Amino acid sequence: MTEIGHNHKFSDLVDIVAFERLMESLYKATGIPNGLVAEDGELLSQVGWTNACALFHRVNVQTNQQCQESNIELMQTLHEGEVACAKCKNGLIDYATPVVIEGRRLATLFLGQVLSEAPDMDFFRQRAAEVGYDEAEYIDAIRAVPIVAKEQMEALMDCMVGMAEMLAASGLARLRESIMEHNLKKSTKKRVQLEDLLDSSPIGIGWSTLDGKIEYINHQFTKLFGYVLEDIPNIDTWYHKAYPDANYRESLLIPWYKSVIVAYENGTTPPELEGNITCKDGSERHIVVRVSWVGDKRLVSFSDMTAHWQSERRNRAHDEMLEMVAKGSPLSEILHTIVHTIESEDTDALCSILLLDEDGKHLHSGAALSLPEFYNEAINGVEIGMGVGSCGTAAYTGKRVIVEDIMSHEYWKPYASLAAQADLGSCWSEPIISSEGKVLGTFAIYHRKPTKPEESDIERIKFAANLAAIAIDNRNARSELEHRAYSDYLTGLGNRRYFIEQAEEELSRRHRYGGEISLIMFDIDYFKKINDTYGHSIGDLVLQKIAEVCRTILREIDIIGRIGGEEFAILLPQTDAEEAHHVAERLRVVISQAEVIVNGLQSTFTASFGVVAAGNGATKIDELLNEADKALYKAKESGRNRVCIAKKQSM
Ligand code: GH3
Ligand code: MG
Ligand code: MG
Repeated sequence: MTEIGHNHKFSDLVDIVAFERLMESLYKATGIPNGLVAEDGELLSQVGWTNACALFHRVNVQTNQQCQESNIELMQTLHEGEVACAKCKNGLIDYATPVVIEGRRLATLFLGQVLSEAPDMDFFRQRAAEVGYDEAEYIDAIRAVPIVAKEQMEALMDCMVGMAEMLAASGLARLRESIMEHNLKKSTKKRVQLEDLLDSSPIGIGWSTLDGKIEYINHQFTKLFGYVLEDIPNIDTWYHKAYPDANYRESLLIPWYKSVIVAYENGTTPPELEGNITCKDGSERHIVVRVSWVGDKRLVSFSDMTAHWQSERRNRAHDEMLEMVAKGSPLSEILHTIVHTIESEDTDALCSILLLDEDGKHLHSGAALSLPEFYNEAINGVEIGMGVGSCGTAAYTGKRVIVEDIMSHEYWKPYASLAAQADLGSCWSEPIISSEGKVLGTFAIYHRKPTKPEESDIERIKFAANLAAIAIDNRNARSELEHRAYSDYLTGLGNRRYFIEQAEEELSRRHRYGGEISLIMFDIDYFKKINDTYGHSIGDLVLQKIAEVCRTILREIDIIGRIGGEEFAILLPQTDAEEAHHVAERLRVVISQAEVIVNGLQSTFTASFGVVAAGNGATKIDELLNEADKALYKAKESGRNRVCIAKKQSM
């Protein structure tokens, strides 16, 4: 700010023309000439002039010199608040006093020249003679010089200087006032600038009075929540709109508000509130609310954590899904979780996952929670291709397809009425691509109204498709793995582990629902000899041949496993001992008639069978195997190539 009074001239503070008029009236009243000289030497005002000076002293070189000298003498004796007085060598007297404001000399007021008493005419006649003035005229001029006593002059000087100082001081005060006014104007301008500043803030800001009237909200606030000031004139209306859930208001909002009041009263930092705010359009944003006070205004800031919150939620969804994958949760369950995650992020979105089948040509329902059933059914099994809706095209091209308006898009021509029936306006489809670059299916986001995706939507759909790809890829790898873990590489039948697990499951099902169940166990006869005679690889061929024979004889529901080197077990659901005996007998005959060709020679083989029915008393798989093994041993003992049934146990 300008330092007032330290660089202003007398002429800045006092109207010089008016001042001169004042000095003129002084001159008229007293006949005393006067002048005002600014500190920088500028003559501000000059009124009256004695003829003695004007016509004689000043015009003569010698006397003018004496005038100057007495002026210098006068100036040297100037002191604030004192009237300096100098008697010129010409015999007249000058008075001078500085005009001082707040310690700074602004100008000097001169009164004179005058005589303090009746003039000594002899002195002046003598002077006239010395200098060469016309004596008569000079004496007339001297007689015209006002005679004012020194005390009177001093009093007059005090009066005039006081007046000059008063005028200057009031001028300075006015100047200060106007500077203050100017600054005040600048500060109201500053407030406007503050609001401009708040309007460009990335944080939503509003302030209210202590009685709850909302006075201001910035642009970002409106951008975040959609409300303008007219929508929310007071805190109460705001709370009802932003937090429509009465339960939430009572259990969380009000207690928070109370603790904010307590903080205000104690002068401590009020607690933050993190939660969801309902926007004007009904959507929700995750916000951290902070309160502070500026004077008696409650200043509230709203930091949008939605993106952070969403990414946190996404991380959680991602972790949750990986956990499900690790636990071996069914694929459909995982895909449902993904759809649910995306739909909760964008509450207007309807999501669907379609899976490409083995042939790579048809899409089948994977997960679609919100689309109508008739729509899912109509889409199920659709053949992919160019222009087959968004998903058919995306799966076909392996590229994202954005259809903003279903009704006007050529890809949707064949499905326009179906989409209209399902009330669908837009469909964006992202291909789900495996880690090896193979298309596995599509992830689609539908909206009821024609909708253009924003960058965040594209990010979301990519995220979802990527999650689905991980889940599907993993499921595929896990079958593959399970297949390896449970199958016998030589015969392609299930291995011992497979047989035991499947048989246990089947037995527990029987336990729940009842029904007969039987077990056959068989072992190749003299297999060691086959190996020894023809070689191990021929032994392997025999094992494969037997597996083939079993597959042709057994039903889909029967469970067969190669449970040992040349030992097989078959669980026969819904089969009693007699039927099982019959099956074993058929197998025995067919095996005995089978052959492998060794060096052009036909080689045959046989097997021995033990049969047990669960109704026999044994109900656990190891008990059944044990019983069957005993029967098998009997078959071997009694000559081989035969079937023996386990003896009925006493219950
Ligand atoms: P038995 O009639 O009493 O069952 O006589 P066996 O010779 O069949 O029985 P043994 O238990 O003495 O011999 C079983 C043989 O099966 C021994 C083993 O070399 C052979 N074997 C086990 N697994 C395989 C296999 O995977 N391939 C081949 N080629 N031979 C196998
Ligand atoms: Mg054996
Ligand atoms: Mg054997």
